[in-house]
Amino acid sequence: MPQSAQKICQNCQQKFIIEPEDFLFYEKIKVPPPTFCPECRLIRRMSWRNEKSLYKRKCDFSKENIFSVISPDKPFKVYNYKTWWSDEWDPINYGQAYDFSKPFFEQFKKLLLEFPWLNRFATNLVNSDYCMNAAHLKNCYLIFYSNYNEDCAFGNGLHQAKDCFDNSYFRTYAV
Ligand SMILES: [Zn+2]
Repeated sequence: MPQSAQKICQNCQQKFIIEPEDFLFYEKIKVPPPTFCPECRLIRRMSWRNEKSLYKRKCDFSKENIFSVISPDKPFKVYNYKTWWSDEWDPINYGQAYDFSKPFFEQFKKLLLEFPWLNRFATNLVNSDYCMNAAHLKNCYLIFYSNYNEDCAFGNGLHQAKDCFDNSYFRTYAV
């Protein structure tokens, strides 16, 4: 049985422990022990998800000014959600035959750089530009992960609400 070991995280420089059973697991799946602490590893694993940071940028289809979770310095082509969900462009045009003689990730990267990205997850928003991962909002501001709200601001997980501010995971039910 391997011994536990204290390491210094290469990212935050904090001490962390690798337990004997963790070493056995890393041996089993044939990967080296981690050099980042558990919290830094979690942050790195979750970094793919941006839900609340919105950037100003141009829509690469209409050239209009839009808000997006993808910052303008990124190499991706980004379409406003109204265009992205519309028939104004045809996703089939971006289809590529898979080339078995080339590495998968090389081809996947090429596809990611060519295919238009959705600027933010949004559907049917009226006067609610600063919202994300949301649908059916009217006159809302900084509302995330929310649906069917009107005249609300500063909320997360807000559903079927009206005139609500500073709420988290709040739902009203129609009776
Ligand atoms: Zn760390």
